[in-house]
Amino acid sequence: MNEDRRKLIEALLSAGAAISALGATSTLASCANLLKNTDRSPNSINNFIFTALKTDRIAIIGAGAAGISAAYYLREKGYTNVVVFEERSRIGGKCNSVHIDGQVYDMGAVFTTSSYTEVIALAEKFNVDLGLLQGQDAAVILDSETAKFHTSSTIEKAALLGVAAQYLQKIKTRPFQNIFNPGFRYLDLSLMVPFSEWLQKNSISPKTLESFFGYTFTPFGYGYTNEVPAAYAIKYYESKLVTSLIQQSSNLRMVTAGYQTLWEKVAKNMDIRLNSAVEKITRDRDREMVSIQIKNTSITEDFKFLINTSPLDTSLKFLDATKTEKNIFSQIKNYYYYTFAIETPQNFPSTGFLPANYSHARQHHPLCWLKRWEKHNIAIFYVLSDSPNDTELIQKTIYSDLNQKNYQLGKIRETKCWKYFPHFETANLQRNVYDALEGIQGENQTLIAGEIMNFSTVELTTRYSKNLIERFF
Ligand SMILES: Cc1cc2nc3c(=O)[nH]c(=O)nc-3n(C[C@H](O)[C@H](O)[C@H](O)COP(=O)(O)OP(=O)(O)OC[C@H]3O[C@@H](n4cnc5c(N)ncnc54)[C@H](O)[C@@H]3O)c2cc1C
Repeated sequence: MNEDRRKLIEALLSAGAAISALGATSTLASCANLLKNTDRSPNSINNFIFTALKTDRIAIIGAGAAGISAAYYLREKGYTNVVVFEERSRIGGKCNSVHIDGQVYDMGAVFTTSSYTEVIALAEKFNVDLGLLQGQDAAVILDSETAKFHTSSTIEKAALLGVAAQYLQKIKTRPFQNIFNPGFRYLDLSLMVPFSEWLQKNSISPKTLESFFGYTFTPFGYGYTNEVPAAYAIKYYESKLVTSLIQQSSNLRMVTAGYQTLWEKVAKNMDIRLNSAVEKITRDRDREMVSIQIKNTSITEDFKFLINTSPLDTSLKFLDATKTEKNIFSQIKNYYYYTFAIETPQNFPSTGFLPANYSHARQHHPLCWLKRWEKHNIAIFYVLSDSPNDTELIQKTIYSDLNQKNYQLGKIRETKCWKYFPHFETANLQRNVYDALEGIQGENQTLIAGEIMNFSTVELTTRYSKNLIERFF
C-alpha cells in the first residue's frame, strides 16, 4: 500500500465532500477533477504496484469470462494459489448454454468474430470448436416504412461499405489513441457525448450507419445510440470488428457446444467454488489481508489479493467500501436484457431484425431473433427494458408483434433476464470517472475486472483481464 497515494485520495475526498456539501458538485466529480489536474500522468495513475509471491493466495469473485480468464492468466504466470468464488451453480456467468430437445442454445453471449483474438486463442488451446453461424445471409429485416420484412440482400451494401470505410479512416486519428487500449483511461473529450451525436458531428451518414451499426448495437443489448456515450460504441466498433462485420457470413462464429463450455474447459483443474456467494469482504489495511465470508456458511477465508469481477454496484452490499468506491460504483447504470427461447413455426426466418424498435420508447418490443439451428424450430428473441420485472409484459408483446406479421409462435421454453451493459453516463465520463476508477486499481489489495472496465463483450472483458494480470502480477 502506497502511503502517499492513500493520503492524496483522502485529501481529494475531503475536498470533494466539502464542495459537495456546498451543493457545487458531487464528491466524485470533485475527486475526479482533482485527479485530472494533479494525478493523470500514465506513470502515476497506478501507484499500487504489487509485489506478489507465486504462492500468495488470490481470491477472484465471479466465474464469468472476466474471472475465469483472470484465473487462467494468473496460472500461466505461475500463480498456484487462486480460488474463484461463484454464487451460481455453474461456470460462465453471461455465457450461459442450455439444452432444449437435445440441442444447445445460448441464452447469453453467442458470437465470436475474427476480431476475438484472445477468445480464439483460448478456443484453440482448449480444443473448443467455433462453428459458422448459419443463415446470416438470409436474415430478414423489418422495413420501417412498409412494415414488411425484406431480406438483408436489399440493404444498400455499397453505401454501407462506403460509410464503413469513412468510419475506419476516422478512428485512426488522434482522439482515438487510447480508446482501443484495455480500459477507458485518458478518454478524449470528443467521445464523451452520445454516440448518435458523435456520428452527426463527424458527418458520417447516420441513416446509412443505422443499417450498419444498428444491427449490432441496440439489438445486442447495448442500449440506445442517442443515450450511450460514443466512447463505448467506438471501443466496441474497433477496426477489426468492423472489418469482420463487413465480411459477415464468413466471420460470425459461435461456440458449437455452447459458449459456457469454453469457460468450463478453461476452468478445468482450477479451484472454483460454485454456490459460493460472497457475503462480506473485510480488508485489513495493516495486515494487507482480505477476508472473504461466504453466504450460508461459517466459512471465512483470508487472501493476500482480491480480484472482483462481480457487478460493482451490487458488490457495495458486501464490500467494506471506501468513500471513493461508494461514489464511483453507485453511479453505474444498466439496462435489462431479456432472452426468450420460443418455438417457431415451420419456415421461420433464421435471423430477423426489427429496427423500428431500436429506441427507448419501444422498449419491451423484440429487437431481433436468432434461430441457432436451421433445422430446429426454436429461436432466441432479444428484448431490452428498464426493469427486471417485465417478463410477462414482454412475452405478450413478442407474441402480439409477431402475430401481426402472421407468425404464430409456439411455447416459451426458456427465459432469462440479465442486468446488462454496466456503463457510466456521459456526465460521469466528463468528470473522468474512469481515471478515478483506474486510480484505485490495487488499493487495499483489490483489483477490478469485468464488463464495466472495457465494454460488454466476451473478448473485451477477457482482454482486460489479461492486461490487468500483466500490469499487476
Ligand atoms: C443476452 C446476451 C447476449 C450477449 N451476446 C454476446 C455476444 O454475442 N458476443 C459477446 O462477445 N458478448 C456477448 N454478450 C456479453 C458477454 O456475455 C459479457 O460481456 C461477458 O460474458 C461478461 O463477463 P463478466 O465475467 O464480466 O461478467 P459475468 O459473466 O456477469 O460474470 C460475473 C459473475 O460474478 C458472479 N457473482 C456476482 N455476484 C457474486 C457474489 N456476490 N459472489 C460470487 N459470485 C458472484 C455472477 O454470478 C457471474 O457469474 C452477451 C450478453 C448477454 C447477456
